[in-house]
Amino acid sequence: MSEKNVVLFGPPGAGKGTQATKLRDLLSVPHISTGDMFRYHIKNDTELGRTAREYSNKGQLVPDEVTIAMVRERLSRDDVKSGFLLDGFPRSVPQAEALQKILNETGKILNFVVNISVPDEEIRSRLTKRASIEGRADDADPAVIQNRIDTYKNQSEPCLSFYKPLGIVHDINGIGTIDEVFERIKKIFQTNI
Ligand code: AMP
Repeated sequence: MSEKNVVLFGPPGAGKGTQATKLRDLLSVPHISTGDMFRYHIKNDTELGRTAREYSNKGQLVPDEVTIAMVRERLSRDDVKSGFLLDGFPRSVPQAEALQKILNETGKILNFVVNISVPDEEIRSRLTKRASIEGRADDADPAVIQNRIDTYKNQSEPCLSFYKPLGIVHDINGIGTIDEVFERIKKIFQTNI
């Protein structure tokens, strides 16, 4: 397989960011995190950042239109020629459909959806812990945490039903040490590339 076009999927606090850094090094493809992109814009107080702040502070998704335009621009750059690792996108069925369209237009296909699953209680305790370590505004408030979990279930999880029939979803148990989880992820790529 020449291209490695990968989506890292899972609830907030599943460890997507941590695993993405390791997987990026393994696959030698750019790590594209929509959460990081929004945080960059929020920090620099750009117009996009001001829009993103409004939603992310409440634990809600930034509107699809805004998010899709940002990802479309990012995927038009040269560095994604041999692949990409999307982290935190898509997070809604319209985003998943838009991604298919963007890839179609450039003659690419999505090869892997790595779905990291973690039970709700574990998510809650991880996000609360992260709030005190990283000081992320959207991790600090229990109501915001609950909102992010609900948003995941209502809007993001249905993406899996979109991808399952394509046969590209690989379910990964997200419980364990960082290295244990990464070993499970590595196996997908050892057996499929
Ligand atoms: P993350 O770091 O991936 O948890 O993202 C932090 C916040 O950024 C989310 O709670 C959303 O408000 C926003 N965000 C990140 N990715 C997306 C996306 N694909 N669609 C909409 N909003 C997003």
